[in-house]
Amino acid sequence: MRKLIICLLFVLTPAFALGTEQEDSVFDKLYERYYQLYQDTDATAFYDISRQMMDYYQKQGNTQSYYKVMLNEVLYDSEQGQSYRAIKKAGELLEIMKQKGDKHYYIVYSALGSLYETRGNYRLANRYFTDALNNCEPKDTNALMIIYFRLAELKADREPKKAWEYNEKFGALSKNSPQYYKMYLVFKANICLYLNDKQQFLKTYAEFQDYCKQHADLLVFGNTLMSVVYDTFQGNYDKALNTLDASTSDFTELERCELRIKLYRMMGEEEKALEEVNRRRDLRDSLNSNMLFENINEINTEMGIAKLNEQAAKEREIWLAIVIVLLAAALGLIVWRYLTRRRYQKELIKQNKELEIALDHAQESDRMKDSFIEHVSHEIRTPLNVITGYAQIITNPSYELKEEERNRMLNDISKNTNAITEIVNELLEVAQDESKKHYQKDDTIVVNSLCKELMAKVEQRNNGRLTLTFNSELADDFTFRCHRQAVEKVLEHLLGNALKFTKEGSVDLHVHESPDHGVVRFVVTDTGIGIPEEHRNHIFERFYKVDMFKQGFGLGLTMSLKMAILLDGSLVLDNSYKDGSRFILTLPIG
Ligand code: ADP
Repeated sequence: MRKLIICLLFVLTPAFALGTEQEDSVFDKLYERYYQLYQDTDATAFYDISRQMMDYYQKQGNTQSYYKVMLNEVLYDSEQGQSYRAIKKAGELLEIMKQKGDKHYYIVYSALGSLYETRGNYRLANRYFTDALNNCEPKDTNALMIIYFRLAELKADREPKKAWEYNEKFGALSKNSPQYYKMYLVFKANICLYLNDKQQFLKTYAEFQDYCKQHADLLVFGNTLMSVVYDTFQGNYDKALNTLDASTSDFTELERCELRIKLYRMMGEEEKALEEVNRRRDLRDSLNSNMLFENINEINTEMGIAKLNEQAAKEREIWLAIVIVLLAAALGLIVWRYLTRRRYQKELIKQNKELEIALDHAQESDRMKDSFIEHVSHEIRTPLNVITGYAQIITNPSYELKEEERNRMLNDISKNTNAITEIVNELLEVAQDESKKHYQKDDTIVVNSLCKELMAKVEQRNNGRLTLTFNSELADDFTFRCHRQAVEKVLEHLLGNALKFTKEGSVDLHVHESPDHGVVRFVVTDTGIGIPEEHRNHIFERFYKVDMFKQGFGLGLTMSLKMAILLDGSLVLDNSYKDGSRFILTLPIG
């Protein structure tokens, strides 16, 4: 259905409704060619004409159409499978709009939502669609409809109730646009499947049939999905599966996989469902590896400053090889994680009644992995840009570099190589911590001296920028038994975050004992940007970051919380503190 609906959306999306009102034959020709090239795969020719269109609109002072041409480039890149490039361009467009004081960001946010959705990044897709919704002008019904629909589509399998709500909003707005209304009905049927709501489905099915009769002129779509869902609810599973197998033109392979998973689960065929989950993972893996390689290629193109001679090309290959090895290491990690989970799954499969759980685990691990790959490629990209760029300049004999310039670049290359190594090490460490089930509490921790040591380490990174304070209500000889390395790691992470998210002011570590409860508390307080209300419940989730563009994997707090729990303690964010952030680590002393 997605396949069809995306085409349909494009037909209906007014992005192409450029300002053609001028009586201008030069423009007409340009526009005609532009439209033709959009449907072609010759990217160079398309970019070229796209630039001409932009120049034209710039001269006319028609900024709205100028933006639309840029946005069409984003759509074009996305359709050509170049989502990395598309995301970059969308970012540039956003910048230009901000500079010009144009507030129609929702158009770009919505495009970014779709782009992240194609990249399998649910969270970012959700964030951008929601931003688009919040930023959308209430009178722009067309845009609102698309955003509601996209949100419904995104949430159908994970949060079908929410998807239902969004789809209803879409339906309410589309009453006077038959094509959209038909989409609403088809999608409603789809959500009924995820909600297991046969009654609602039958009503929707009847309305759909009626609607098609009344509006015979509309594009034909949705029939296959309707019959698959109909047969499923009637218990004709084999028929539904056969229709699904034969429907290559209506659904993407991933969609078919998803529908099969749903169907097999309803049939109680958990093992077949699990097979489909695995197949879906393979499909996603292949998408993800395409994405990683697309990123690498794109980075290289970006850095293609001049034609390299043979020697330089060789050097570049070496760098590329390093990059691939590093990415392979990251992928290796993922596979390793996957294999350990698979073994776990296999054990569960032996016990039939636990199959359901195995299936849920498999689906969860699938989602985690997608998110993981997205983050790895995001984090590695910046240092890689520097490395590949400078390596190309240095190895290109047509650039005459001064000794000091060359040294500075080599220095930067080395720094950034270290940064990548650190990222890989951090990932390895996380993987290691992840597998821990227990911490031996064999160390005697002298609290004040441990804290002082940590503060000294933090001061090295701080270098006088912020005021760092440590105060303790404990005697200097106060000790308790715990796992020293784990406690250090959690505190280092909390202090590191405090430093990272505080521009000016102070970071404070305070310790006190609560004898009634037999615990010691470590309170890390900063005067930084703080954590907005709506994000507070999420920051301990894997890969969660309030600002995606800040450095970090969004794993530190997840791991810290896990460690605190394994140490029989707790880690919380203090919601009453408003001048920055305050985290409290509580550990038992008994
Ligand atoms: P990361 O490694 O990305 O910092 P964490 O899991 O440690 O990941 O933190 C998750 C997110 O929580 C951060 O990206 C940031 O948005 C928010 N956060 C954590 N600590 C602080 C803090 N002291 N001040 C403001 N935001 C914070």
